[in-house]
Amino acid sequence: MDSSIIGKIEKAKQYSEQKDRVNITSFAATFKGNHDNYDVQFSDGAWRCECHFFATREICSHTMAMQRILDEMLTAQDQPVPAI
Ligand SMILES: [Zn+2]
Repeated sequence: MDSSIIGKIEKAKQYSEQKDRVNITSFAATFKGNHDNYDVQFSDGAWRCECHFFATREICSHTMAMQRILDEMLTAQDQPVPAI
């Protein structure tokens, strides 16, 4: 392995600890629920899920779980830069 890729790997390790560097603008995922799998999407600041609960409430356990998992990366633009 050449030295330049080793430097990139080190940088990647540091970046991966600094989730506020990442601002997710859109993504799609398959969420494995207790009874079924659901397609969950995030785009233009809005969530979508194909489950029945989301269809009537526009929020569900799957989108809320994804928000918790991705919290820092979804709201990074709105938060002040943390002191290091
Ligand atoms: Zn759902």
